[in-house]
Amino acid sequence: MAIVRLTEALTRKIAAGEVIERPASVVKELIENSLDAGSERIDVELTAGGTSSILIQDDGTGMDEADLRLSVERHATSKIHTEADLDSIHTLGFRGEALASIAAVSKLRIVSCPGEGRDAYALTMDAGHIEGVKPEARGRGTTIDVRDLFFNLPARARFLGTPRTESLHANRVVQRMALLAHQVGWQLVHDGRAIFEAPAAACLLDRIGQIYGVDVARALIPVEGRRGDISIMGFVSRPDLRRGNRRDQLFIVNGRLVTDRGLSFVLASAYRGLLRPGGYPVAVIRIDVPPDLVDVNIHPRKEEVRFAESRQLQDSLAASLQQALSTGHVVAPVVPETDTGTTSKASQIREEGSKALSFDLRTAVSANTRAREAEKVRVTGDRRVIGQLQYTYLLVETLDGLEIIDQHIAHERILYERLKDQARDAGIVRQLFLLPVRVEVPFETASVLSAHKEKLERVGIALDEFGGGTFLFREYPRMLADEQSQRGFQELVESLAQAIEDKEDLEGALFDRLLSEMACAAAIKAGERLTMTEAQRLVENLMTLDNPYACPHGRPIIFQLSREELDRRFRRT
Ligand code: ADP
Ligand code: MG
Repeated sequence: MAIVRLTEALTRKIAAGEVIERPASVVKELIENSLDAGSERIDVELTAGGTSSILIQDDGTGMDEADLRLSVERHATSKIHTEADLDSIHTLGFRGEALASIAAVSKLRIVSCPGEGRDAYALTMDAGHIEGVKPEARGRGTTIDVRDLFFNLPARARFLGTPRTESLHANRVVQRMALLAHQVGWQLVHDGRAIFEAPAAACLLDRIGQIYGVDVARALIPVEGRRGDISIMGFVSRPDLRRGNRRDQLFIVNGRLVTDRGLSFVLASAYRGLLRPGGYPVAVIRIDVPPDLVDVNIHPRKEEVRFAESRQLQDSLAASLQQALSTGHVVAPVVPETDTGTTSKASQIREEGSKALSFDLRTAVSANTRAREAEKVRVTGDRRVIGQLQYTYLLVETLDGLEIIDQHIAHERILYERLKDQARDAGIVRQLFLLPVRVEVPFETASVLSAHKEKLERVGIALDEFGGGTFLFREYPRMLADEQSQRGFQELVESLAQAIEDKEDLEGALFDRLLSEMACAAAIKAGERLTMTEAQRLVENLMTLDNPYACPHGRPIIFQLSREELDRRFRRT
């Protein structure tokens, strides 16, 4: 075949395909432009997941007629002018590609006004061709309306998800951008319904609270660090708040959201040993480095960057994280034996000890009785709890030597087996809440939960949707219902939603996963102080299981150190 020069229309389409993958990419590019224009308020409205229309309005600097015409041309930008500018990019955009790309694969209309009292113009385009520019009424700012995305690129249109999926992607983008710019007020409307709203926030932590909920915000630890020209600031979650995926980890480098394997790896390493496998922390970390030390021009969608001093950066981040995670926030506070925080878990364990024990009886046990009871159990059975190591491991004396038991995994295992037995025998026994428990979840989680109500009912959870991401727990497995904390519920619904997303089709595996997520969320955590009685009961319950030594997924629960081994170590034999 002979070589031909492609037409401008075709090269535009090809370039567009690189930048614009789905409605969410349009949303991202347009939001970047609004932020670059100094907007204080950004409203996004999607119809059918953005496949039929994406409307975005801002109150930024706007454009006059000449700029408006130029803005949709390829490689036309107001953000850099010379090659040297590439070394010090302070804006999110700089490639001058987004509007041209979007225009090439949609029907586009832009209305913009460069300031109060100045003329506003509307520009309309169809598949990359300007149809007209006309005066229009609008206050300062810009409105962009993108219709029928990919109408002339059927190969791409075929790969779009359902409107719901596309709206989830777009929502994720808006929320991430909202974390990037907390001082901006946001709204995202999908098919006429507001699915995300965040008024201008005073600080990053407030914004995190708006997006992930106040419970998450409360469970965060500040991270700070400065080394040479590198400065690090942000928040990471305490290890007891875990997520099932990496989605809530954000790195903001010089004001830009980036994905960087090196940084993600450093974060994961900092939590090694603190989180169980498959658990991920929440993290929003801002990193500022001199602009000439980061190359932002390596990716058409500007999602990745390259660092000149990546080693130094990773070391600084590692040091800041380590400091944050070791400053005492991480260890659960020591509570006196009578403290209610301990009692709640205590009553749970007692319930497991004797399933029939009634609620009132359990809560009526006074501190005194418990202390006496502790003396008594300590000397019964062939396993004697002799202590709790760092509020995480139970030390148990056996006829044969010493056992070290991971309290969280042990409890999780007990709960899981009981739930499974119940589910098999007669269905999970539920308890009706007199006062329904309220939880607020992100929009994505909400739509997963409401789409899979029956599945949740089968594992004993009845939820009512209240609108705006709020759910009410009406019924809950009796065995777990006792004193599940508010945060426990929050964590629970999110991990259940994740389980559903991961295993959407495999009924049996999903059921199993739901049960184990529930067990994990309700189980005693590492770092929680137990009384002797509680510890003893936990061990006794564990021993009633068929195989108390390992969890079904292969993690050990008990580590044994025999008398023989000890004798050998001390050279007694
Ligand atoms: P880039 O952002 O890389 O410059 P774009 O194609 O996204 O490229 O935008 C082209 C130009 O249009 C920008 O440089 C900016 O001057 C102008 N522009 C785009 N969107 C807006 C907006 N919302 N408000 C003001 N100006 C805008
Ligand atoms: Mg741009």
